[in-house]
Amino acid sequence: MALTRSDLYVRAQRLIPGGVNSPVRAMRSVGLDEPLFMRSGSGALIEDVNGNRYIDWVLSWGPLLFGHADAETLATVADALVRGTTFGAPTEGEVDLAAEIVDAVPSVEMVRLVSSGTEAAMSTVRLARAATRRDRLIKFSGNYHGHVDALLASAGSGMMTLGIPSTPGVPSGVASDTIVLPYNDVDAVAAAVAQYGEGLAAILVEPVAGNMGVVPPAPGFLEALRMLCDACGALLVFDEVITGFRVARGGAQERYGVTPDLTILGKIVGGGLPAAAFGGRADLMERLAPVGDVYQAGTLSGNPLATAAGTSVLRRLRDPAVYDGLEQRGARLEAGLERFGTVQRVGAMLTLFCQDDPVRNYDDAVRSDTDRYGALFRHALDRGIYLAPSQFECMFVSLAHGDEEIDRTIEAVGDFFDS
Ligand SMILES: *Cc1c(COP(=O)(O)O)cnc(C)c1O
Repeated sequence: MALTRSDLYVRAQRLIPGGVNSPVRAMRSVGLDEPLFMRSGSGALIEDVNGNRYIDWVLSWGPLLFGHADAETLATVADALVRGTTFGAPTEGEVDLAAEIVDAVPSVEMVRLVSSGTEAAMSTVRLARAATRRDRLIKFSGNYHGHVDALLASAGSGMMTLGIPSTPGVPSGVASDTIVLPYNDVDAVAAAVAQYGEGLAAILVEPVAGNMGVVPPAPGFLEALRMLCDACGALLVFDEVITGFRVARGGAQERYGVTPDLTILGKIVGGGLPAAAFGGRADLMERLAPVGDVYQAGTLSGNPLATAAGTSVLRRLRDPAVYDGLEQRGARLEAGLERFGTVQRVGAMLTLFCQDDPVRNYDDAVRSDTDRYGALFRHALDRGIYLAPSQFECMFVSLAHGDEEIDRTIEAVGDFFDS
């Protein structure tokens, strides 16, 4: 017999901490007593175990650029599946996916495949430290780079949502090498570089912030980071786990014309299966074992199913119609939501902040009315629309969202604010 959402949640809480395998999934901050348990998805629609259907604006937090159960992705994965799920030895699929990434992302000359964005960020930090022989890092408050020890300070959505400022279990020695600065604040970065520049290994940044809601880079911000890194010999690292293949085929670095030394990729790169990557200049990447001395490895890295899914998606991104379509859908959604609060959008990522002021950084973001957002979330859910279960996340636009899904969403949000 199929279990309902409540049955599953009771059972899950006995077996899995909090009943979930990633904290934001508990959906507590939007006032739900129990999370939705999903059963299936198709295109822009998702269905929970109780048989309710929703227009899905979460899309597994971004990977599904062509929507759920995309036919081409399924066929490619099915073809790979019958040939075996993992070999722990090189396969052609890895080379194909690497070629697509290198072709698409301007700064990436060589790439290594891993299984999650966290793993990619962790390995990138190690490589940057090895290459510069320095330890210090700069990151920005409200930016998230996975749950990497050194990068967990002021780390955006998950921790903002749960009200956790920093996390026990990170050794103070590790945390003390990380300098946390306000996003979009060039003066603060310049001052930190003046003080710590000689010991600075890297500046890590989400080139469009997505983990405190969408916060675009202020004009000149990314360019200034590039200059400051060059001036002190630190590496510039773009975390494009969300923005990669989303805000342009080549990510934010293509869209804004600023070239980082290293790039972290995830989400879309795996086409909905567990794959992520990090890449950059060949001279840096060749510091990795086995050619170099920086150790990094993974049993399931470059997994055949994940590379098949990723390649199937990335190959289709060569068609400029993909980005025209995403832009057009994003613009329609933005135009419809604009009058309800501060809407910030870059291409196919958008946040409606429950406030009226522009959001440039973390301090601005937390001024949003999260209770009102929670009420909006529940109102929309009752009308068959699944918004992000946190104010500090994006709505992810996909090619599976048609005018009808967009307009129904605007209407549901509208009758919440107008009532
Ligand atoms: C999701 C995300 C990560 C972490 O990726 P996981 O696959 O969840 O480990 C890292 N950086 C950014 C910008 C992300 O949005």
